[in-house]
Amino acid sequence: MGKMKVVVIGSGPGGYVASIRAAQLGADVILIEKDKVGGTCLNRGCIPTKSLLRSVEALLMVRKAGDFGIAVKEAKPDFPKIMGRKQRIIGQLQKSIHQLLKANRIEFIIGNATLLDPHRTSVQTNQRTEDIVADRIIIATGSEPVLPEIFDFGHPAVLTSNEVLELTEVPKTLLILGAGVIGVEFATVFSALGTQVTMVEMMEQILPTEDKLIANQMQYILEEQGINIFTGTRMEGITNYGSNSITARLDNGEELTAEKILVSIGRQPNSKGLGLEKVGVTVGAKGNILVNERMESSVKGIYAIGDVIGGILLAHVASAEGIVAAENAMGADSRMDYSAVPSCIYTMPEIASVGLTADKAQEIGKRVKVGRFPFGAGSKAVILGEEDGFVNIIVDQETDQVLGAQIMGPHATELISEVALAIRWGITAEQIGATIHPHPTLAESIMEAAHSAHGRAIHLSK
Ligand code: FAD
Repeated sequence: MGKMKVVVIGSGPGGYVASIRAAQLGADVILIEKDKVGGTCLNRGCIPTKSLLRSVEALLMVRKAGDFGIAVKEAKPDFPKIMGRKQRIIGQLQKSIHQLLKANRIEFIIGNATLLDPHRTSVQTNQRTEDIVADRIIIATGSEPVLPEIFDFGHPAVLTSNEVLELTEVPKTLLILGAGVIGVEFATVFSALGTQVTMVEMMEQILPTEDKLIANQMQYILEEQGINIFTGTRMEGITNYGSNSITARLDNGEELTAEKILVSIGRQPNSKGLGLEKVGVTVGAKGNILVNERMESSVKGIYAIGDVIGGILLAHVASAEGIVAAENAMGADSRMDYSAVPSCIYTMPEIASVGLTADKAQEIGKRVKVGRFPFGAGSKAVILGEEDGFVNIIVDQETDQVLGAQIMGPHATELISEVALAIRWGITAEQIGATIHPHPTLAESIMEAAHSAHGRAIHLSK
């Protein structure tokens, strides 16, 4: 039998990772991308936003350089240079992916793919249309912003996250509809750059999927930074599209005018125009491709991964699903396990959570104990000058296994992986506490929180 041929559609963190794993397992892989390698994550998502956040972090750090004994006259943002840095990072990382594809002998085609039947994909490139025959197809076409009809997205003041990342000037005022992760990260960036930011959120709390306590603390921090926040408030529409501004009406009767509005109320799967109905791939109510835990769609030999299946819209989830799909496409029996998916918010301070909150654990009938350690009680946070925040570890009272964690504070997004590892492999709070953590580090706070679940944190007075 010849080599297995796998076609992957979409080169985001789902598709390019799936391609590499399939190639590692011996497949002939063709990766088709209609835009740029790296998908949303690299070009319009994770990477550019974190690059902007890093720039404003540097700005805020320099502004408080005096606290560290460093005299600095003035720190001012240079927006074109900040955007230039972001673009260079994207370019560098695109190059790295191309090198990986080459090293794994993956054929990369720029073109728009549509399915013709369970083994044939049509690709329209700039030059021609060609049909590719493959044994397996992995669909990784991602998602795009939801565009509610009440907004005129043709107007230059009405933006999605895509256009915000291409701005050439810092707006004086910015209205953000939706205070989820994307909205809150952009609010942090633009507020630090000097924009007067107002956020409007329909739910009763910002960051609706986060723990209420953390969301409330973050709201307080954002308000301290001068950001106006309306929660439990609907935007009813735009009452005026001006030449350089818009005015929006809220359901509380207020009208807000701003130079730009960012609409960040969610994303929808990119499944239209792929020919799914023709080949019989079943989709859900929102257009998300339905798959099982092996990432198989309703059609044998066709897999789907990442944002296009709905579920948890995160790059690392797309990559994990990509690996599972590729392994199964190559004859293995891999299954997705969603018990320990870290979710991170790169604000200042950062927020990261994984597994269950105490409330969720109790809802499913678990008796839990909560270990808690404030960063300020550890030495590294004091050295860093970043004492705000805490680690919460949720532990099963009967088994002592770690069920979840919520971390708010310096480098929370790095620290969460230790807890993810614990949850994924059934490690107990006792075992974390008995593991030597280096000193002085922020990671000691995880160890201390684990001790605290047993009422014996070292650096906490009762
Ligand atoms: P995508 O990355 O969307 O890639 C899909 C690719 O398929 C695209 O390149 C598209 O052009 C291509 N494609 C679509 N249709 C076709 C077709 N017919 N033919 C050929 N190619 C096609 N996640 C995190 O984990 N961490 C973060 O910090 C984070 N920050 C984010 C910030 C923002 C502003 C946004 C918008 C998202 C962020 N995300 C983050 C989410 C993350 O970007 C997505 O979950 C991730 O990119 C999904 O990967 P994917 O491979 O499923 O799809």
